[in-house]
Parts: sequence; structure tokens; C-alpha cells
Amino acid sequence: MVLEITRFGNPVLRQKGARIEKITPEIQQLVKDMFETMYEAAGVGLAAQQVGRALQLTVIDVRGVKDRPSTMEIDGKEVDVKEHMPLALINPEIKAFGNPATGPEGCLSFPEIYSDIARPEFVEVTATNAEGKQFSFRAGGLLSRAVQHEVDHLNGILFIDRMSTEAKRELKAELDELQTATKAALKK
Ligand code: ZN
Repeated sequence: MVLEITRFGNPVLRQKGARIEKITPEIQQLVKDMFETMYEAAGVGLAAQQVGRALQLTVIDVRGVKDRPSTMEIDGKEVDVKEHMPLALINPEIKAFGNPATGPEGCLSFPEIYSDIARPEFVEVTATNAEGKQFSFRAGGLLSRAVQHEVDHLNGILFIDRMSTEAKRELKAELDELQTATKAALKK
């Protein structure tokens, strides 16, 4: 089922996600619905907060993006990213490292708003998948950026918090408008 995507101004986006202690059929259904919602919106990642649930759960699939490469390493060996997509990350723990790399980012909760964001180039991830199995990998490129963006969501952090002061100032009118519209819609 395609779920409604929460927009900037909805307080759930600022909530830290609760740890998922048990992967119930409801959680598995939520994972499925989040994939469906992400694909329908043509996104690369989607966090539980973006469908109104403050949980440590995010889904990612970078296969749809052809012009921005991703790298992935498992047990020190480079692997084919496509073979490991899509990813459901439950209770992810990450460690970002490397020099900051700047790249364009958007967010399904901020329609039509894009900005360059600097983030460490690589990330080390440990998470549980939808079958309850723990797994680890290293990522670079777009996948690293997507993981960092999504894990930020799980902690109530949004990409506007990572923008330069200048970029945020330039987008202020649009951000204010979006926030006001979201709040007005929630009151109805
Ligand atoms: Zn986002």
C-alpha cells in the first residue's frame, strides 16, 4: 500500500525513532509499504518518520539513479551494489568517515527543494534486515549519502540542518511556505 508522505512542518519528522525490538508481521508490512511508497515517489530512500512512524527503520534503493555512482564493500571486498539493493535498515548504526564531499540532495518531505550538502565521503553501516538478520557494509558515493541522509531522519535531523547558512537563507521563503502549508493541512 502506498502511504502518505509527511512533509516539513509535521512534528513527526523531528522525532527520534524508537528501536525496533521485534520484527513483527506489522513491521514487515510497513517495510513493504515503505518500498512501495518510495518507488511511487521515485525516491532513493525513505525513513519511517516520512510515513508518520517514529521508528528506527529506513529503506533505500539507489538503482534508479544512473548518473551518480555508488560503491559498496562487504567484509573488505567490493561488491556489485545492484545485487544488494533494495536495502531495509532496521536499528542502523553508522560511522561516517573520510573527507567531506559536497553533492546535491533532495528529500521527499521537501518537494521541489534541493541543495548541495557536504557529508563525509564514506559510511560504515551495521543494521538488521527485514528478516531479522544483522548485516554490515561500507558505502561510498550516492549510497553513502543516502544512508547518512536517512539515518539523520531516524534521529529527527533533516537535510536543512546540514545546509550552509547561505543555502538556507536562499531557501527560507520556500521553507516557510511549506511549513505553513503543512501545519494548516494538519489542523484540518
Ligand atoms: Zn529525506
